Amino acid sequence: MSLRITNSMTRQKEEFVPLDPEGKKVLFYNCGPTVYGPFHIGNARNFVVVDVMRRWLEYSGYDVNFVQNLTDVDDKIIARATEEGIPAEEVAEKYTKLFFEHAEALGVRRATRHPKATEFIGQMIGLIKSLVDKDHAYASEDGSVWFDVRSFKEYGRLSRKKLDDMRQGERVLESQQKLKRSPLDFCLWKAAKPGEPAWDSPWGKGRPGWHIECSVMSMACLGSDTIDIHAGGADLRFPHHENEIAQSECHTGHPFVRYWVHNGFLNIDGEKMSKSLKNFKTIDALLEKFDPITLRHFLISAHYGTELDFTVDNLEAAQKASTRYSDAYREALHLLGDLPEPEEWENHEQLVEVEKRFAAAMDDDFNTAQALAVLFDLVTIVNSERARVERGETDEKAFLAGATALLGVFREVLGVTCELEPEEEQIAGLEEDLLQLLIDIRARARQDKQYALADMVRDRLGDLGIALEDRPGGTIWKKS
Ligand code: AMP
Ligand code: ZN
Repeated sequence: MSLRITNSMTRQKEEFVPLDPEGKKVLFYNCGPTVYGPFHIGNARNFVVVDVMRRWLEYSGYDVNFVQNLTDVDDKIIARATEEGIPAEEVAEKYTKLFFEHAEALGVRRATRHPKATEFIGQMIGLIKSLVDKDHAYASEDGSVWFDVRSFKEYGRLSRKKLDDMRQGERVLESQQKLKRSPLDFCLWKAAKPGEPAWDSPWGKGRPGWHIECSVMSMACLGSDTIDIHAGGADLRFPHHENEIAQSECHTGHPFVRYWVHNGFLNIDGEKMSKSLKNFKTIDALLEKFDPITLRHFLISAHYGTELDFTVDNLEAAQKASTRYSDAYREALHLLGDLPEPEEWENHEQLVEVEKRFAAAMDDDFNTAQALAVLFDLVTIVNSERARVERGETDEKAFLAGATALLGVFREVLGVTCELEPEEEQIAGLEEDLLQLLIDIRARARQDKQYALADMVRDRLGDLGIALEDRPGGTIWKKS
């Protein structure tokens, strides 16, 4: 089966066929953050689900060029700079750094490229000029430039809005009323106000509007007028993405995007989590209570297109679920003694079937909820095979190695791997060897009937948060 994606443009599940004639390269763009404050778990839903899409495309053999921009010049950044009494560039720098820290904590891989809006001002001016030359845009007397929405017949196609309906609901700032030809026209270039970051342009000093950034950076960084996949949260469908289409297609004359993908909202108490409603939970605050793997598991526990509720129950369920597969993986590795080769599952028919079911789930519009259900079936297989080996019912460890390898592959594809489990990392390497040494000393003490010494080893490890469990195949340790 091949990948099918729900295209927000057609609202249909469509077979994914990249633009590349060889069917190998994928050009993928995701709208990045405006760096004016710390991110919340709602923003993280977008970054995490898109990261999983990218991983799945790569696992499927595609060569993915993935670009995610950083909006580093914007009204909100300027407002924040005034609030904090620091230059706007400093605000952008501070929150860019924080974005990368949090993204990394949640296992979100770096994009092929993270272009910053301020690095592309020249190209943005070029595109705006081209729109003015083609009569799709006009300058107003204050030195701003506006896109003439009526000049693009297809406007409203993505959001399925009719121009007349839009006009009725539109409220226009009084200051803009005199400048725009129609209330729906949107800003391509903002005339500078004193003290704000500004660049020279044919219309005087100013800065780019938000929408033009994404048109320019997606086409420039992916090197094509048409890109394969463009993603973003559902709130960006209108007006942001609608405007991106208008600008790009009027400039190039080519279709801008083949597949539009939008993630649903993360809600809290029945409302969208957002900075403006002040009902948000920052990643920082959540990482104090939950480990990153739990947060990531929670974010992919539902299909990306649906809405997801932020509740304590849902997070606790995610904690329990992620512990189950992390434990299964670690305990199996402990018994195997060695990390199996990733492809070891390919030798076992039952595992080939499990992988097919996982692939079918992911190929069905990146259905992570379904893929996790398959992952749990595999956890049951790993645990029961491990128990068989421990009970001495088989000396053959090849099937356990294959099943564990496949569990490792699934965890990698979903990004819920042990790099996200800091406590495990801490006990890696030498520390793990020392732990094994203590387990061996305890076993020896018990053989020699030195029970007080054996109990001391177990109790002192218990004080350190390490529980020992005696199993038929030997003693294993667990974080208690
Ligand atoms: P922003 O920095 O507000 O532009 O948001 C960055 C990304 O997060 C965008 O793709 C938004 O659509 C997305 N986003 C913001 N809030 C939520 C939410 N509550 N649930 C899901 N995605 C969101
Ligand atoms: Zn964008």
